[in-house]
Amino acid sequence: MLSSLGSLWQEIAAIFMSIIMTCGSLFGAFAPSDTANPDKYVDSEIKNVIFLIGDGMGFNHLEKAKQERNITLSMDTFDIKGASMTRSLSAAVTDSAAGGTALATGERTYNGGIGVYMYDPVAAFSYPKNITELCAENGMMTGVITTDETSGATPAAFSAHSSDRGNTEDITNDQFASDIDIIWGAANGVASKGLAKQNGFEYVTTYDEMMALEEGSRSFAQFTNTLWNLEQSDANTPTLSQMTAKAIDLLDDTDEGFFLMVEGAHIDKHSHSNDDASMTEAVVEFDKTIQYVLEYAKNDGETLVVVTADHETGAITRNADGTYSFTSGSHSDANVPVLVYGSSKVINAGEILNNYEIPIRIAYTLGFTEDQFPYEVMIAA
Ligand SMILES: [Zn+2]
Repeated sequence: MLSSLGSLWQEIAAIFMSIIMTCGSLFGAFAPSDTANPDKYVDSEIKNVIFLIGDGMGFNHLEKAKQERNITLSMDTFDIKGASMTRSLSAAVTDSAAGGTALATGERTYNGGIGVYMYDPVAAFSYPKNITELCAENGMMTGVITTDETSGATPAAFSAHSSDRGNTEDITNDQFASDIDIIWGAANGVASKGLAKQNGFEYVTTYDEMMALEEGSRSFAQFTNTLWNLEQSDANTPTLSQMTAKAIDLLDDTDEGFFLMVEGAHIDKHSHSNDDASMTEAVVEFDKTIQYVLEYAKNDGETLVVVTADHETGAITRNADGTYSFTSGSHSDANVPVLVYGSSKVINAGEILNNYEIPIRIAYTLGFTEDQFPYEVMIAA
């Protein structure tokens, strides 16, 4: 995070903080009672978490993809299906930075903000802990993998704290300074082999190098394929499902368990351009990843799987003839799916949560307490 600040700015921030903390406790008084009672979610049998985020993936993305391909999806096999309300603190329609921050830290913030409070955007006083940090500081192995750049908004929210999603260097520095074991995505022009080495990471750029990684190593991977939505990637670049399988293999050997965030980034990107076929391809590859993860979890018996999205993109709407079409090139405020395997304590079937409640419930399912991952309601619902 950036730390240089004038004293006047600090004073202003302090005043804002006291105002919003006061508002926060007022909102807190009206918080849903089930979320205020973390004990309800403690589940000692869950040791690992795989948290999959389909960027921009709404309910109708799944329907459209099934129609386009005449297929069923692994996402349809979850018994526990709810929904998430995705707004940010500054707008009814969130961007990926604020959406990712809610899913990572349990805090809503302003659009553009990465793991920071709205009242303290440069983290002069404090910032909300993300669930990756919570897990790492308690001895769990951790990983953040994406088909976006490593410093993209979603992976950044799970690994950095910065006033703006565009602060690529700031975000990358935070990632290198973190305790995360695996950070894999596309190249961003900032990270380098030298920087990775200085910070104790192996730097990886090809499929073969990734597959050669051994347990106990920490790795920062940056691949270069620009067509990463494809189900079959090129020889140098793994697909999302290949990355996920290897990451699980590297992370799953400690008694303390692991936390892995997996983002399918291209569902959003192809929805912005209303590209039916490519969006479908990205959904299918994301679903293939989920299929692998579900099989792993069913064998393992100690792994919680949560699938959701940061927001919907493209406002896909059902037509009179039963087909589905994009009706916008932007994000929408539509609720998105929350699918859970492994515990009934994250969401009840049919329940609609606020996005920021999801990581809090995951943390409490892992056995963390409110002292360790506070439920601070500084959120206008
Ligand atoms: Zn997004």
